[in-house]
Parts: sequence; C-alpha cells; structure tokens
Amino acid sequence: MNNAAPKDFIRQIISDDIESGKHDGDVVTRFPPEPNGFLHIGHAKSICLNFGVAQENGGRTYLRFDDTNPGKESEAYVEAIKEDVRWLGFDWEDRLTHASDYFDQLYEAAETLIEMGKAYVDSLSAEEIREYRGSFTEAGKDSPYRERSVEENLDLIRRMRDGEFADGEHVLRAKIDMASENMNMRDPALYRIRHISHQNTGDKWKIYPMYDFAHGLSDAFEGITHSLCTLEFEDHRELYDWFLDQLEPPHRPRQIEFSRLNLAYALTSKRKLHQLVEDGIVNGWDDPRLATLAGMRRRGYPPAALRNFIQRVGVTRKENLIEMGVLENSVREHFDHVAERRMAVLRPLKIVLSNYPKGEIEMVAAQNHPNRAEPGTREMPFGREIYVERTDFMEEAPKKFFRLKPGGEVRLRFAYIIRCDAVIKDDSGEVVELRCSYDPDTRSGSAAAQRKVKGTIHWVSVAHAVPAEVRLYDRLFTSPDPGNAENFLDDLNPKSLEVVNAALEPSLGQVATGSTYQFERLGYFSTDPVDHQPDKPVFNRVVTLRDTWAKIEKEALMKS
Ligand code: ATP
Ligand code: MG
Repeated sequence: MNNAAPKDFIRQIISDDIESGKHDGDVVTRFPPEPNGFLHIGHAKSICLNFGVAQENGGRTYLRFDDTNPGKESEAYVEAIKEDVRWLGFDWEDRLTHASDYFDQLYEAAETLIEMGKAYVDSLSAEEIREYRGSFTEAGKDSPYRERSVEENLDLIRRMRDGEFADGEHVLRAKIDMASENMNMRDPALYRIRHISHQNTGDKWKIYPMYDFAHGLSDAFEGITHSLCTLEFEDHRELYDWFLDQLEPPHRPRQIEFSRLNLAYALTSKRKLHQLVEDGIVNGWDDPRLATLAGMRRRGYPPAALRNFIQRVGVTRKENLIEMGVLENSVREHFDHVAERRMAVLRPLKIVLSNYPKGEIEMVAAQNHPNRAEPGTREMPFGREIYVERTDFMEEAPKKFFRLKPGGEVRLRFAYIIRCDAVIKDDSGEVVELRCSYDPDTRSGSAAAQRKVKGTIHWVSVAHAVPAEVRLYDRLFTSPDPGNAENFLDDLNPKSLEVVNAALEPSLGQVATGSTYQFERLGYFSTDPVDHQPDKPVFNRVVTLRDTWAKIEKEALMKS
C-alpha cells in the first residue's frame, strides 16, 4: 500500500499501537477460515487485510484453520484454501496452524476455568438450555446444575473427554451471567460431546471446543496482536475479552471488526454456494461464474487485479454492496496494458470477396498492442474468403449502423475497405454468406492518400481460421442481491453461460495454457486451465471491454 494514501481505521489503530509501543511494536495477524467450503471474494478482503497490514509493518500472519466442527470439514477444503491464498499472492511461511493444534491447551484452559469456579458442566437438554436462555427482552434463568462443585465438574468433564457419555448428555458452560443484556454472555457453551472423528486428531477427542472459546484463545496462544474479523462478531467481543480477563494469557490480542464485502450479483454465502455446487447448478466450486477464488482464477482474473479491487473497496464498518463493475474495471485495467491484441470471430459469418483473385493469399501486418511498441506486429493472412462477426452485419440497418449492410462499406482492420454486394440466405431465410468486393487501393498502411469509412470491423481468413470453443459468461443471477432473496434460485440468470464455436486467427493456433489476449472489440479472453489444449483451444471470456451492464441498465432507465 502507498504510504501516502489515507489509512483506514484498522491501519490507523495499528500504527497508533506501534507508536505507543503496545505489543512491543509487533503486528501479528491471522486469517482463520473454516475448512468447510471454498474461499470467495469476501474472504479475499480478509486475506488482503490480514496479510497486508502485517506486511506493511514488518509483522507476520498465520493461516489458521478453524477446524472445530468435525463432520462438516475436510482435508480437500484445506488444500483448496491453501492454493487460493497462495494464488492471491500471500505466504504464511511456517505459520500454518489449526485450532485443533491447540486442543490440549484448550482443554487445560477449560479445567482451569472450572477450578476458578468460572465454568460448570450442565446436564440440561439442548432444548431446555434454549428455554433457560431467555430472549432479547427477557432475562435467562440459572440452570439447576450451575452450582455443581469444582470436584464434580472436574470429574464430569474428564468422563466427557473419555467418552463415557452420549452426544448431548452434558455440556461445559462458562459461568458468567444469565441476565446479561448480551446473549453471548448468558453462560455460553465451551465444550460439547461429539462422538465423531476429526480430520486432524482422529478419534482422540470425544468433546470439541466451541468456536468462541477456541478462537480467542488460539489467537492468544499464537501471540496474535490484532484479531480482525467481520461485524457479526461485534457482540462476541465481550466474551472474547472475558476469556482473556479470566485466563490472563501472556499475549493479549485485540478483536477489531470491519464490514463484510458483498458483491452485487454474486453470492458470498458458503451455505448457498454449497447448494449451487451440490445441486449441479454450476459446474463445481471453480465454475467461472462463481465469485469463488477458484472460479475467478479459472475464469482468468489476475490476482493483482483482485488485490487492487480490494484496496479500492477499502476497510470500514459500513455495510456495503459493491458493484460488479468495480471488480471488472480492475480486471480491464490490468489487462489493457499487458494483454496483446488478437482477432477472433465468435459467431462467424462467411464473406466471399468476388473481385479478389482465387487462391491468392497476402500477409497484412497487425499491431499487437495499440500503445506499447515492444510487442511489435504479427502477420495475418488475408484472402478471398473471410469470416466476420454475425452481429457486424444487419440487413435492415438503422441509419447510424456503421458496420456492414447491403450496399454499405466498412474497413476490415489492418486490411481493406469492402462493400457488401449481395446477401445469401438458406431456405429458412437465415443469412449464411455475404458477397462483397474489396477496394485494392485502400490497403491499411499503404502510402497512397486514402478515403475513409466510418466503421472498422475485425475478421479472420477462412482458410487459416483455427476453430475454438469459447465460453461466454454473464452474471449468474439477475438480482443484484441474490443472497438476500428467500428463493435465491429463482433469480438465476438462464443465460449465464453461452458456448460458441469461434474462428481464431492462425497465431492463436498453438498457445500455451495461461495465455490471455484481448480479442479486438470483444473483451479479454483466457485459455481455460482445465480444458484448453494448444491444438484444441478453449477460451473463457474473462471480461467484456466495456461495462455493458452499466449500459444496459442506463438504457433501461432511460426507457422507463
Ligand atoms: P461461515 O458461515 O461458514 O462461518 P464465513 O464466510 O464466515 O462462513 P469463514 O471460513 O469463517 O467463513 O471465514 C474466514 C474469515 O473470513 C473470517 O474471519 C471471516 O470474518 C472472513 N470473511 C468471511 N466472509 C467475508 C466477507 N464477505 N467479507 C470480509 N471478510 C469475510
Ligand atoms: Mg465464519
């Protein structure tokens, strides 16, 4: 981050802490995903923030898996999350940890709380516990088991640990205040019995710590200085501090909340993402239409563009819904400079140039980048038969249509001006071919003074075209806030994926996986990391050239 840029409130707190010598000037953060799904754009904000503030201040960051919920979690998600964090450009070095690494220490802390008279084993049923808890308007009441002796509590927790009881028979609770206005302080659960194998600790444990207990203490064990989390944990901060107050660990972390990132037209709810993947509505967690990091990577979003986007969005405590256009602009800005230009025709319409000599081919020079010299030029073959984009021809065109129409002229980029002489249709009336003539005196780059026409279109020589599968993605949802709709599946965009058989210029015939180009006039396109083969190209449209959605929305507004 640019040091001159104004600091967000978290960076301000951190620099104040460094200045005052708190934590001896140390900055230690953690990114704590639960391995129960893939990461999404919202997590990118948390990753960039946690790793970012540490990097900027000579600190360090832990990648800590919050694996306190065995059953829902898996090693496959752990691996996917590691790959995503690395891809986004961050390195936890040797600081890969799990909440489960601390199960022994956490258990000891639980016994300590019991010995202090600050925790007890409750034997009410889950339903009774809920009833006793009260409500926002009504105080809770004490459990009849609340005054068990330290000895009895220690005996019970040990037998819980050793597997003597069934799930739900007992639960360990903190002894705080059943009348607290903060529901989180009404004797929250610390441990519950669960006879289930854990992906890291196997069958060692029959009891598992609750999130709030495990999370805050793991922060303390690791020497985290600033525990950055999203706003829904604001009401948990009192409990977070309570554990630290009772147990007084050598390092005292501070919890600071910020608002979640919400992206318009995208889903950032793991539960709903699960549903899309499991019901086969999308093709896996890395479907390029998803705002998962794996999906965006597969689609061809560069990690640098994501980091820029996150920086642009900033860190505040205000709820927000960020326009997809902001993210897409970051991607466009990135590629505008680095991506070379090529020609590809997505929906080919064949043109025969009647006055061009049969069998003849000439090479025309095409610029690889409009404002960078070093990519140079390439040669493109031009001949009697070429493909143009179907949408660049209109039989009954409005006056302002400056592309091809019957009797009209257009320039073929880097080549000649052509005129449309005849339209050929099949039996169903569909246009299948155009007969045109070219003007030999209009070759691009020739010295002769040239006449001009208003439109320029892209093209590919039929004889040299490379067939390719191109996947065109659109918003997965028609509603900007699908996550808030009860039936979010009703808002699915039926046209979110269109696959076309495109014609590419011959220089795209053998490109390596990982290549991204601007297809002139169409957008940025990247080879699909899974399905692309150099001799069987498969491209994904990463992003269109302009924010076509903003345009559509503006037009809709003007009409209404
Ligand atoms: P779950 O409902 O499964 O807990 P989660 O999105 O909170 O979902 P976690 O794996 O717990 O997933 O999240 C890891 C970290 O990422 C947490 O610190 C969380 O606050 C942060 N995070 C999650 N979603 C967002 C978001 N949309 N914007 C910013 N940070 C987020
Ligand atoms: Mg969470």
